Amino acid sequence: MTFRARHLLGIDHLKPAEITTLLDLAEEYVALNQRTVKHSDALAGMTQINMFFENSTRTQASFELAGKRLGADVMNMAMAHSSVKKGETLIDTALTLNAMHPDLLIVRHPHSGAVNLLAEKVNCAVVNAGDGRHEHPTQALLDALTIRRSKGRLHRLTIAICGDIAHSRVARSNLILLGKMENRIRLVGPSTLMPSGVAEMGVEIYEDMREGLKDADVVMMLRLQRERMDGGFIPSEREYYHRWGLDAEKLALAAPDAIVMHPGPMNRGVEIDGTIADDINRSVIQDQVEMGVAVRMAALDLLARNLRAERGKAAAGVMV
Ligand code: ASP
Repeated sequence: MTFRARHLLGIDHLKPAEITTLLDLAEEYVALNQRTVKHSDALAGMTQINMFFENSTRTQASFELAGKRLGADVMNMAMAHSSVKKGETLIDTALTLNAMHPDLLIVRHPHSGAVNLLAEKVNCAVVNAGDGRHEHPTQALLDALTIRRSKGRLHRLTIAICGDIAHSRVARSNLILLGKMENRIRLVGPSTLMPSGVAEMGVEIYEDMREGLKDADVVMMLRLQRERMDGGFIPSEREYYHRWGLDAEKLALAAPDAIVMHPGPMNRGVEIDGTIADDINRSVIQDQVEMGVAVRMAALDLLARNLRAERGKAAAGVMV
């Protein structure tokens, strides 16, 4: 099996073959999820704990469904009501949970790097469900599956990632994944929302959205991440929409069969026109949500296989 990762902390450490393995397995779960009976026993007997230190709708719900459909015991920690509020550190919380022998820990945290740190302290598999502005690997994987299914391939495509790039872990993970799969990537947005050093990453940068969208196969819109801004990054929402909001007129510059993506939550009328978001001929936003469950099932399944193999070897070592 070409998937060796112990944890899924980012796209950075995955090889293209591992990405393909995961997407291929996710295809099987897409089919399972369309049946009336959606159960598999890939995680039977295993315990999955979801620890979300930041709000989430899609990601938390889909990790919960993914674990349950694979037969795991799934527990959602209500972090807002946990001892973290009493001052307990992330590591102490993790060590406490670790002592309960979870097999899979799904963590979202507002600080970049927090999930990597936690993974060093526990002896189960850890999945990064988004850490600060660093990475959101399962989002990039579900985006990749959505693109592969609607475009029939995941290479040699022109992909425009638009909006608040600087604060977006979704943009970062996508940029790494789509770059590994040899696509042409354009980052489109105001210079105040472009991360520094990005020009060296082999991407094209456009401030003018009309130029950036020209002939693009995929238009990926991002939310303005107000919670990570501390002031004047954009002139006004009205002006922002006028220059960088996706409307019919700007979309007409992309390839005639271009697809429109958004990781959600969407701010209609800020980064995207509601009519485009709802246009089933262009928008694949609901497909992204559907692929999210399947990709997370595939990720949990592969990590569980590696965990079993590792524990099997350790047990054999002890008996020798
Ligand atoms: N849901 C995505 C994330 O958690 C995108 C967003 O919040 O805008 O990063």
